[in-house]
Order: sequence, then structure tokens, then C-alpha cells
Amino acid sequence: MNDVLHDYYYVHPSDVHNNAIMLRGDECIHLVKVKRCAPGAFITVVDGIGNEYTAVLQKIIDRNSAVCSIIQSRHKPNEPFVNVMLIAALIKGDRFDYIIEKAVELGVNLIVPVFSERCVRMPGGHKADRWRRIALSAMKQSHRSVLPTISEVESFLDAVNYASSINSLRIILENVSAVPLKRYLAELSLDTFIEKGRSIVAAVGPEGGFTEEEIQTAKTKSFTAVSLGTRRLRSDTAAVAAISAIMTHCEG
Ligand code: SAM
Repeated sequence: MNDVLHDYYYVHPSDVHNNAIMLRGDECIHLVKVKRCAPGAFITVVDGIGNEYTAVLQKIIDRNSAVCSIIQSRHKPNEPFVNVMLIAALIKGDRFDYIIEKAVELGVNLIVPVFSERCVRMPGGHKADRWRRIALSAMKQSHRSVLPTISEVESFLDAVNYASSINSLRIILENVSAVPLKRYLAELSLDTFIEKGRSIVAAVGPEGGFTEEEIQTAKTKSFTAVSLGTRRLRSDTAAVAAISAIMTHCEG
């Protein structure tokens, strides 16, 4: 087989038929105009629902569409075996974009943006399309085959209630009087955890942190307050540090 390009391309699952893939829009433009690929080039394509294909570019139809044929397929390569859900309070500027990008790269499956008591950013200001584009790009960048879901913005309480309704271990990040995350993870029995198909849910607060009442509410829903150390981190740093520690612990 010829060299396969390092870049990954996205195909909507409805554009995969038998052994053929129709690459459309930006994906096609990137392949043909930016990478200047010609028929015969080998590429990797993912469909966001767990399928990864090695394919060969067969025919460039026009600027926005090209047909590729599938040589090999794999199911869920590079996907973590633990489901991690991130509940993240909305934060200002492009820092929430950063949380999405890094959470997807690190292997999170579900991101729930929440509006909590001390959020400065208004819930109406979010951009679902923009977040999806960031997640899509991060999925390809990290060679994942599953496009994580980014839910609608909901209240912190709704997210906590949802988390408590699923088979999950739950942590809420807090920088004072909490169990060190390292100790919390060390006490997890990974085998039992995996056999039981449990998810891990992590909640990170906004710039001003969670209120005491929010933390107590989460605790009544079996969230454990965990700390990443004595330093007061920005929300985006805390989210990345926590997910990274969880993934490292679970995957080695
Ligand atoms: N208002 C809080 C205070 O006065 O200490 C700090 C909020 S911090 C800027 C934003 C969020 O990041 C917190 O709600 C928490 O979820 C997370 N966070 C920051 N530092 C942390 C740490 N050392 N351990 C665990 N979580 C932390």
C-alpha cells in the first residue's frame, strides 16, 4: 500500500455506501486543493460513529465532492475504553472552545456545557455549530473515530441529576477541602469499573467557582469533591488536568 496521509478526513455516515465514500465540502477541498491529492492517494477517513477507513481517492467530481473506495475498515481504534463525561460551566471568551478541543483530544465522550450560579458568560451566547466544528477538528487531529456529543447548555442542577441517573462515578473539582484526585483514582478498581460499564463524570466550575450550595447538591447525588492540588487553576486548566489524570490512570 502507498503511504497514507497523516491527516484524517470526516465523512458523514450517510455518505458511505458499500465500499465507496463520498467526501464533501471542506473535507474534499482540504484533500484536493490544500493537500493537492490526486486520484490514487491513500487517506484515512472517520465517520464519527466509530468507523475508521483506509481509502483510496478514486475520482474528483468537482470542487466539493470526491469519491474514494474503501480498502480497510476498523471499528473504534484509538477510542478509550472508559466513557468520560465532562460537565463544564460556561466560561468567558474562547476558553470554553479550548475546553472542548482538549477534552475531545483527550478522549471525552460527552460534554455538557452548564450554566451555574457564578457563571459570568450568558447561556445564550454559545454557538453549537462552532463547538461542533471544534470537536470535529479535534476528533480528526487526535485520530479518534467517535465524534463526542456536545449537549445543549443546561442548568448545573439538570446536569447533576442526569449524571446521577446513569451508571457512573462522579467527581466535582474543587480546590479546597477535597480528596486529592490522585488518591481518588488510586482507590478505583479498574477491572470492576470496566466490567460494570461505568462512566466517569467530572464537573468543573466557572471563573468564580461553584457555590457551596452547588457542591452540597452534587454531593447529595454521589459526587465526590476532588482536588488537583493547592494551586487555584483556571477552569480550562483544571478541566484538562483532571481529564488527563483520569485517562492516564485508566489507560496507562
Ligand atoms: N472561586 C474559586 C476560589 O476562589 O478558589 C476558584 C475557581 S477556579 C478559577 C475555577 C474552577 O476550576 C473551580 O470551580 C474548580 O472546578 C476548578 N479548579 C481550579 N483549581 C482547582 C484545584 N486546585 N483543584 C480542583 N479544581 C480546581
